Amino acid sequence: MPDQRPNFLFIMADDHASHAMSCYGSRINATPNLDRIADDGMRFDNCFCTNSICTPSRAAILTGSYNHVNGVTTLDTPMDNSLPTFVKDLRADGYQTGIFGKWHLGQGPAHEPSGFDEWAVLPGQGLYHNPSFIFPTNKGSERRPVKGYVTDIITDMSLDFLRRREGDRPFFLMCHHKAPHRHWEPDDKHAHLFLNQDVPEPETLYDDYANRASAASAAEMRLGTHMIPLDTKTEIPRDLPEMELRKWAYQRYIKDYLRVVASIDDNVGRLLDYLDDHGLRENTVVVYTSDQGFFLGDHGWYDKRFMYEESLKMPYIMRYPDGIAAGSVNRDMILNVDFAPTYLELAGLPAPDHCQGRSFAPQLRGETPDDWRESMYYRYWMHKAQHNVYAHYGIRTRRYKLIYYYADALGQAGAIDEPYAPEWELFDLERDPYELNNVIDDPDYAERVIELKAELHRLQAEVGDERYHLDVD
Ligand code: CA
Repeated sequence: MPDQRPNFLFIMADDHASHAMSCYGSRINATPNLDRIADDGMRFDNCFCTNSICTPSRAAILTGSYNHVNGVTTLDTPMDNSLPTFVKDLRADGYQTGIFGKWHLGQGPAHEPSGFDEWAVLPGQGLYHNPSFIFPTNKGSERRPVKGYVTDIITDMSLDFLRRREGDRPFFLMCHHKAPHRHWEPDDKHAHLFLNQDVPEPETLYDDYANRASAASAAEMRLGTHMIPLDTKTEIPRDLPEMELRKWAYQRYIKDYLRVVASIDDNVGRLLDYLDDHGLRENTVVVYTSDQGFFLGDHGWYDKRFMYEESLKMPYIMRYPDGIAAGSVNRDMILNVDFAPTYLELAGLPAPDHCQGRSFAPQLRGETPDDWRESMYYRYWMHKAQHNVYAHYGIRTRRYKLIYYYADALGQAGAIDEPYAPEWELFDLERDPYELNNVIDDPDYAERVIELKAELHRLQAEVGDERYHLDVD
């Protein structure tokens, strides 16, 4: 009896926002190969990360737990590789497992990939051109340079894993791109794209951060103003008035971002072609996602970290002809901590106790459980580090978003110990989808604020996190 369990090809980009994917209605680019996954499978419109930054989101995906539980709260808290992960469970159950590309969960014997039959990962962020990779050896691991462009190389390694796999056992393959992470260095093949055209600007490019808590204006991620020449590939005309500088820097930045995305799209096409050409199409689950979203000039910013929509939202599309109807769309709230229990269920395994997320396998069949979540919990811990974003937590419901900037490092590794007076923000996403108007003190919302604070604290207790000591309501 042949093994009927599905294979998995899990493709994850780094900082690829869904509003730069045509299957999500992008106004600025086309991603025909990513669209193949959505057209032949399911697009999730409300997939959220629980902490919008690389290392913590990756740990949440692998463990199925929130960062206060798995201990990976910031970029400076590498993951203990003895933690249980869904990949280890699949491997123990006979799956062939591999990961190629960006890891960013720490280096050395206690932090490098474990639970994988094969792996090769970039040290830290890695390089776009001729990057070094860390490979396992009999004695541990070693670093070696590889010639070429990083997105092509990671795809080549993934294809090589597929070619060499044992045909009678299912696989779980993680293809983790570095792209389109800062500093957005395209390859020669895509350097000509967008050359003689202006890319449409986002609605909030000239945001002045009025009517917001002080965190928005304090953030140091403004286009031009907080960029370095590596970002724009040329000297920055810093004497321009700020809004003109934003306009200039947006075009410089977004074109390189989209060129780098174009290479991902081509390379995803190569992987899909391989599956289709080798009889693997029907029984392979293909996922494309990103560790979080990104500000594509939205609010005048690049980067992420904030609980605002563009950063909170992860693209998540999934193809599985044996189990998902083509061209379907799901609008339930799913989270990065849900991935692990979902993949385990599809492989016929129960979710272990440490998984805090919930399997969305029913949604793949077009069914939403009656008690599915209507709110989600978020927390960003890395107070002030790198881009001066204040530590915050909050909830998002269908209509509202409540954010509490407690603005305190709380001893977290990498956070800066310079606390500020806490502030609240409330957005009515129905009336204010771009989150430009904080209504926390609007008397019309007074009742709503009480309800939402209660829901925040309920959710926080449910996931086992601690309330900040000045959050007393
Ligand atoms: Ca990232």
